[in-house]
Amino acid sequence: MSSRREFTRAQKAEMLKRAMDGQGQIRCEGCGLNITGKVIEFDHIVAEALVLDKTVLLTSRDGRVLGRDCCHRVPGGKTARDCGDIAEAKRREARHLGIRRSEQARRTGFGRPAPQRTASRPLAKPAAWRGSGAATVQAAPGDQREVGCDRDPC
Ligand SMILES: [Zn+2]
Repeated sequence: MSSRREFTRAQKAEMLKRAMDGQGQIRCEGCGLNITGKVIEFDHIVAEALVLDKTVLLTSRDGRVLGRDCCHRVPGGKTARDCGDIAEAKRREARHLGIRRSEQARRTGFGRPAPQRTASRPLAKPAAWRGSGAATVQAAPGDQREVGCDRDPC
């Protein structure tokens, strides 16, 4: 992906002039709020991450003057919505390229973990130390002990 295009100073000046009302107050081009003296940002109307051909030069018409706190970076604001769009575009691209999550991952959200080993489950293959036939190791009957808790009132 090529680099993000930024507006030139001249374009920003042009956008600011456009956003200014009759009294010389800068108005947010998203909601119309007076943002003179507030933090303003030059928004790319089409988020740069979604632009495929970045050799096309930006013009002042590709941008908007937005107040950072009223429209640009608030939750649910332009940037948040762009992030959703960008994620969707990435999913769409992955689907187009045939990259897909496994059926299982889609159903459960995660892949199913491998089954846990439990002491009661019979072994799928004989353990190496068991060997076969005569070499079988067996515990003497006296060795068998209840495995339990050492504390008295259990
Ligand atoms: Zn606004």
